[in-house]
Amino acid sequence: MAGKRDYYEVLGVSKKATDEELKKAYRKLAKKYHPDANPDNKAEAEAKFKEVNEAYETLSDPQKRKMYDQFGADGPQGFNGFNGFNGGGTYTYSTGFDGFGDIFSDLGDLFGFGGGRGSQRASNGPSKGANLRYEVDLTFEEAYSGVTKEINITRNEKCGTCAGTGAKPGTHAETCSVCGGKGTVTTMQTTLLGQMRVQTTCSNCHGSGKVIKEPCLTCGGKGTVRKQTKISVKIPAGIDDGQTVVLRGEGEPGKNGGTNGDIYITVRLKKNRIFTRQDDNVYCDIPITFTQATLGADIEIPLVDGGKVSYRIPEGTQSGTKFTIKDKGFVHINSGYRGNLIFTVQVQVPKRLTKEQRDLLVELAKTMNEQPPVKKRGIFG
Ligand SMILES: [Zn+2]
Ligand SMILES: [Zn+2]
Repeated sequence: MAGKRDYYEVLGVSKKATDEELKKAYRKLAKKYHPDANPDNKAEAEAKFKEVNEAYETLSDPQKRKMYDQFGADGPQGFNGFNGFNGGGTYTYSTGFDGFGDIFSDLGDLFGFGGGRGSQRASNGPSKGANLRYEVDLTFEEAYSGVTKEINITRNEKCGTCAGTGAKPGTHAETCSVCGGKGTVTTMQTTLLGQMRVQTTCSNCHGSGKVIKEPCLTCGGKGTVRKQTKISVKIPAGIDDGQTVVLRGEGEPGKNGGTNGDIYITVRLKKNRIFTRQDDNVYCDIPITFTQATLGADIEIPLVDGGKVSYRIPEGTQSGTKFTIKDKGFVHINSGYRGNLIFTVQVQVPKRLTKEQRDLLVELAKTMNEQPPVKKRGIFG
């Protein structure tokens, strides 16, 4: 998929384009590049038409658009091919001509060839299995370091008894005698415009083109059985709330030799008692005593991975001051760049003092008896 153009660029819209803007751009371009509208350079127009179609198919679907924005066209490097990450650009959407049924009917009103809703595709051709969606809860530590999670899923799997044919072992599905195996029948209908050929799904075989005389007893002729299974998902370090890992080919089985669907696993990041996260940066509040704030001190800062670092705050530190520890935030999935840990000190005023402490403070108070002047609000705060 190298050299693939950016989908937003293909449609000539900004990354913030609304659904309406996308649709408008798509309609304009689809009309421009429709092969029927370009009889002189059909091949080039067809390639452009496919490109526009693919871009729109991805960006018009909120889930797919999110994935595309997250991973880009090529996907995060180093995870492809594994049970891992996939970028938007590596999807195999059906953008070939056999997948145009819906598009043509969508464009019907533009070109005046009607067609109506519903695909004209032969229903017994290969089709991709359905995608499954799951969510997984991760702790901050798991998202920080990466983790392998076991997830219980329920999906249809190819029936082992009949090897997916749906026919009882030793028997075979027979070609449907009504449609001759095509799965569709063509009838002539009289309309206002005269006689029209109309293709409908064969009612004898329900579009499969085959009739099972003796169904497999395990699956009842469906060819698939519902199974609970455990799958293992490798979640990369740095993943954030709402981001998705794709397990290719782990979804529902494809039909008639089509590829399996995928599993989309969306991460939900659990709240942490100490830390919050914003992009790749981690934030926390660190309480310090007023003497530490006044005199300066080495304080211990907890890290997301469970470790600690020592940090020197200077004397005269005010409550609410932020300090940054570089490269102790989350790793960015695509770039490998690491965010920072930013902590805010909260000066705690003691509520109880020993007599000795109190006497010392009273002595101190005598030396600084004036209330500080009220600060005027200015542009520098
Ligand atoms: Zn079976
Ligand atoms: Zn049939």
